[in-house]
Amino acid sequence: MKIFIATKNQKKLKELERILIPMGFDVLSQKDYDTDFPEPIEDGSTFEENAIIKARDGLKNTGLISVADDSGLCVDYLGGAPGIYSARYSGEHGDDEENNQKLLRELDGVPMEKRTARYVAAIACVFPDGRLFTVRGECEGKIATEPHGDNGFGYDPYFIGELGCFAELTDEQKDSISHRGNALKLFKEELKKYIETCEEK
Ligand code: IMP
Repeated sequence: MKIFIATKNQKKLKELERILIPMGFDVLSQKDYDTDFPEPIEDGSTFEENAIIKARDGLKNTGLISVADDSGLCVDYLGGAPGIYSARYSGEHGDDEENNQKLLRELDGVPMEKRTARYVAAIACVFPDGRLFTVRGECEGKIATEPHGDNGFGYDPYFIGELGCFAELTDEQKDSISHRGNALKLFKEELKKYIETCEEK
């Protein structure tokens, strides 16, 4: 069965593929199409709403079951910021370096015990017959004052979770505890239920 992953973020794509391919899905993404699909406007007020907007856009463009995630970092000391604005915290969409520099400035002088944060990921799946579901995964951690490691993306060099700094983890270690890994476990279970009742094979 074909499934479209509505993201242009190659690292997120890989994380989703690592779950969906072993489930037997024929996974498609933007690179399998000649047309460049424009990014939808993410004007939802929650991670779930934005994930649904992206997944619906994928369905509209491809006609396939479409999956999208919306994720971000919520820092307690900053009242949950950057939250749904994580990708464009510093103004420019997807500038990881600037986003991290802004985060460090906002937390300047804040002691370690108050630098608590969590990564949140919502995944939405929409079906051509109009059904949809969302799942949410979270992962608790703290924001470091110095960067560590070269793996991962986004805020990973500064996010210290259960197994250490996220940019120091292997893909497998990150998947086993991350917000997206946790959301994907729920997603996999939920998707199985939907597929059993789907006519397309
Ligand atoms: P989205 O593409 O709109 O979901 O934006 C997600 C943003 O949140 C990314 O650009 C990163 O800044 C941040 N983010 C989400 N998940 C992760 C992660 O696993 N590691 C690091 N940063 C993440």
